[in-house]
Parts: sequence; C-alpha cells; structure tokens
Amino acid sequence: MSQATALLSVYDKTDLLDLAKGLDAAGVRLLGSGGTAKKIREAGIKIEDVSDITKAPEMLGGRVKTLHPAVHGGILARSIPSDEQDLQAQGISPISIVVCNLYPFTSTIAQPNCTLEAAVEEIDIGGVTLLRAAAKNHARVSVLSDPADYAEFLEAWTKSPNGDVGQTLRSKLALKAFEMTAKYDEAISGYFREQYASAELPAEKLAGSVQRIALRYGANPHQKPAQAYVTDGKLPFKVLSGSPGYINLLDALNSYALVKELQEALQLPAAASFKHVSPAGAAVGLDLDATEKQVYGVDDLKEPLTPLACAYARARGADRMSSFGDFIALSAPCDLATAKIISREVSDGIIAPGYAPDALEVLSKKKGGKYCVLEIDPTYEPEEIETKQVYGIHLQQRRNNAKIDEKLFENILPKCALTDLIVATLALKYTQSNSVAYAVHGAIIGLGAGQQSRIHCTRLAGGKADLWWLRHHPRVLSLPFKKGVKRAEKANAIDLFVGGEVLEGGEKTAWESLFEGAVDPLTTEERKEWAAKLDGVACSSDAFFPFPDNVYRARRSGVKYLAAPGGSVMDAECIKAADEQGIVFSHTSLRLFHH
Ligand code: 5GP
Repeated sequence: MSQATALLSVYDKTDLLDLAKGLDAAGVRLLGSGGTAKKIREAGIKIEDVSDITKAPEMLGGRVKTLHPAVHGGILARSIPSDEQDLQAQGISPISIVVCNLYPFTSTIAQPNCTLEAAVEEIDIGGVTLLRAAAKNHARVSVLSDPADYAEFLEAWTKSPNGDVGQTLRSKLALKAFEMTAKYDEAISGYFREQYASAELPAEKLAGSVQRIALRYGANPHQKPAQAYVTDGKLPFKVLSGSPGYINLLDALNSYALVKELQEALQLPAAASFKHVSPAGAAVGLDLDATEKQVYGVDDLKEPLTPLACAYARARGADRMSSFGDFIALSAPCDLATAKIISREVSDGIIAPGYAPDALEVLSKKKGGKYCVLEIDPTYEPEEIETKQVYGIHLQQRRNNAKIDEKLFENILPKCALTDLIVATLALKYTQSNSVAYAVHGAIIGLGAGQQSRIHCTRLAGGKADLWWLRHHPRVLSLPFKKGVKRAEKANAIDLFVGGEVLEGGEKTAWESLFEGAVDPLTTEERKEWAAKLDGVACSSDAFFPFPDNVYRARRSGVKYLAAPGGSVMDAECIKAADEQGIVFSHTSLRLFHH
C-alpha cells in the first residue's frame, strides 16, 4: 500500500504537535501550509511544504496558500479508475487526511475597533475549501476540523491495519466540518448584512425595504443587541414611521398573519388588536348598529365607517382594557376612517398592506411622530420551515399552515355561526396557548390566552365576554357622564362599573366625580337577567376539552356553537353536556397550539 498523505493547515495550533507526531510515527506523509509546517518542523517532525507539491509559492500575503489542483485534486479524487488516472496524468498524490481550522473571523469582528479591512482579511478562503472538499469526499478522506477529535482519530488510524478509520468516523468528522463551515459563513454573512443591508432606525426609516433592521433592544431594555433580518432578499415590510421594537415585531407579524387569513377565509376586511403576542380583539368588517357604535366608542365619529373601520372598531372595542397600547393589523390598506379611529386610541403601532395618503398623514402624526407604521407586502409568503432558538437550542418545525375555513367544522351551521367560529378558531391559531375564544357578529368578544389549564381559559374568556355583554346594558349605555369626561376615562369607569368592583377611598371619589348624581351599582338580579339575554355566541378551543365543565361554563356566556378538537377520554361526556345545553358541538380534529 502506498504511503498515506495528510495535509495540515490550521490557525488554532492546539494539540497540533501531538497529532503530527502520531501521524508521522504511523508512517503518514505530512504536508503543511506556511505557519503550520514551520511549527511542526521546528518540533523536529518531518513535514513537507504545500508549495513543494503545488510548485507555487504562498502568495498575496497568505491569501493563496493551498488553493491549487495539486491539493484539491488530491483531496477530491474518488477511488475510481477515471479519477485515479487523472491524478496519475497530473502527477498528483491522493490526500487521505485533512487537518484544518479557520481564521478567527468571529473573535476578530467582536473586537470593538475592528475595521472592515481587518474583517475582510479574516475571511478564510483556502481553509473553507479544504474542509468542504475533504468533507465532500468523506467516502475516502478524513477531515479533522477540531483539535478535540485528534486523539480519537489517531487511535483509530493506528489501530486499523491499512489506515482505514471506518466510514462511521469519517462521516461524523465530515458532518462536523460541514457544520463548522456553515457557522463560519453565517458569521460572515451576518457581519456584512450589518454593514451593507441594514437600516439603523429611525435615521433611514424611509429608505425603503432592507434586509435587516437593528432594533433598540430585545424583549427587555438590557437585551442588546437586537435585530430583525432575513437571510434572503428583503424584509417583507417597510418602516414608514417610528421604530419597531422586538415585541412590536412579534405582534405585527403574528397579527398580520391572522388578519390575512381572516380576509381569505371570509372575504371581508379584517383587523386585529394585539398585546403581548396574543389578540386582545380580532374581527371582520361587519356593519355596526347604533348600540354597537356606542359600545365601541365610535358613535361620535364624523367620518362614515368603512368595512375596514368596522373591523377595527370591533377588534379594538371588545376588550378595551387589554387593547390599551395595542399593535394593530389590518388586512387591507388603511383608509382615513380607520386611521381616524386609531388616531384617538392609545396604540403602539400598525401593520397593513398599504395606507391611503390621508390615512398615513393622520397616523404618522401620532405619538409626536413616533407611532410605528409598517407596510407589509401582501404577496409575501413565509418559508415552510421555521426555526427559533431557545436556551441555545435550535427548534424547527413546519409552519402551521393548516387552513381554517368552513370545511373544518363537521356540523351544518348557520352562516353567521360559521363566520364566528372561523373568527374564533383563526384567532386561536395566533394566540399563545392554552387558549379559548368567544365570538359573535364576526368579532372576538372574549379571549383567554396563555393559561395552563383549559377551564381557566374558558372562564377567563367567558368572563371577558360577560363584561363585553354588560357594556350593552341599557343602564351602562345611559350612564350620566358629566360633560367633558374623556373617552379613556369613560372606558375605565364603565369597566369598573360592569366589573362590579367595590371601590373605596380616593378611587371611589374619583369614579363618582365623573357622573352627574349618584349611580347605583348593577344588582345581582339585573346582571342575571341581562346575562340570560346573550345567545348565539360561538366558542372555539385550541385543544380538546378535558372535562364537560368547559361546556357548562361556555353556555353561561351565551354559547350556542362550540368547536374543539376531539381526542379527550371525556369527548362523549362533553358532547352529552352540549346536547343537554342545546349547544351545537363541532369536533374539528385540528389542534392549534401556538408558542
Ligand atoms: P498557516 O498558519 O499554516 O500559515 O495557515 C493556516 C491557516 O490558513 C488555516 O486557518 C487555513 O484555514 C488557512 N488557509 C489554508 N489555505 C489557504 C488559502 O489558500 N487561502 C487562505 N486565505 N487561507 C488559507
């Protein structure tokens, strides 16, 4: 058998001499690039220079060391006659072992004063080529990219009679080299994305779409740096005003996905009002009657309501407390009527597939010009596979691209019930689990998100639906507010009133001062009587009901149509409870956990 050849070219020279000594002792011919060969030779170990086989000197200050057919032919040749003939014709010896690690790009760019020139010089070319070529040809070649693997390799090499360490070890080493070059390339593209494809907001916010934006911080102010980027093409949204934060983007991207799907499913404009990555409200643009206009606080608007404005009025009005400081998503370009509603609410930002010029003018004046306005490309399609990292671990899954439309529900349902079940179920698709949602008139009226128990979701959402309904009570609609009481003050006062809070001290005095004369609380009888009038509500759950208590609780908030995946040992009990309560229960066979 001819003598095996190893090519060594390492930046990190840890344990290099032990490896070289071992290989030399095992009769392997050693070839090294400049610094690597020098170090090994100085230790008294026999090694040839790469330039001896390339017959070309290292050049361009080290930029070209091993990039040569004599090297890469030797690495890439397969054990097949045609490749062997090629090598012979060119006088090239096959290389069986490649030992290589790369210039320290990551630690160089981490230095505070690193210049672009210094970063460029740290981009390893030949080393990456060595690793990739050797890893590609792992059917024959062993590639050592990490000093931690030297000892194991040397042992396997010396133990094997003909230097065949086995395919299993070669494959493992190849994978490691592939991971290493991938990570290295990611560091390089990340660095240049930052240099060439970013907008530092707000300075360049109007510059059009970019591949990356720097964010002020992550979920919390101490989480720096933070950024949003795509690895391919441009970000699918532009920042028209303001400067989105990390949580803004979580809200914007989840909420836009929701409204886009709502519009597709129901052929109506849709809006969502998000807080902390769950909807506080979501709705499609069904007309509002006079009472609804008053309940949602849009009865005094001069601008006639468009369907899109109705959608946002419903989304924002369902749970006004939770929607305070919301991030808004619209499925259609924002018109003036919708912008006018938004302009008087406390809100953090909006995402929509466009803005009428007068609407944009209104919105960009909000928050002293700091209101975050994002314009998303409605044709954007996210990648099928999504990855996130938690505690250093990459988690990957296929996107939840399950379609939610009428086909999901097995029962024959009236159109309005179908609309409401689709709204409720689609909202859950983008709500932190566990979750349960109640909907009526094309809008969420109560949503319980992020609870660990199902019944707590059902109760939380039901409680919100009850408060929403109480806000329609004639005594609420005719509360004798003094002139000049602000909208937000009214909304808070109504919330306290319908919530039945027993106020004391300064809070009581402040509340009473908003009204002309005394206001009696709603009695238990009044509440009971009013609750009994709520009917025809749809309710959906992101996973099965483990016990029928959920069904009973839903009924107490007027639920008539219920949807949940089956699969519980209590399915039959839940259906029995639904039948007994006159509820139509549709099993969907689609679980919708979202995290
Ligand atoms: P040495 O210390 O042996 O002079 O250089 C070793 C380093 O050079 C290794 O990190 C290896 O990845 C890198 N390297 C090997 N061949 C080439 C080449 O042709 N061009 C460049 N730029 N780097 C190379």
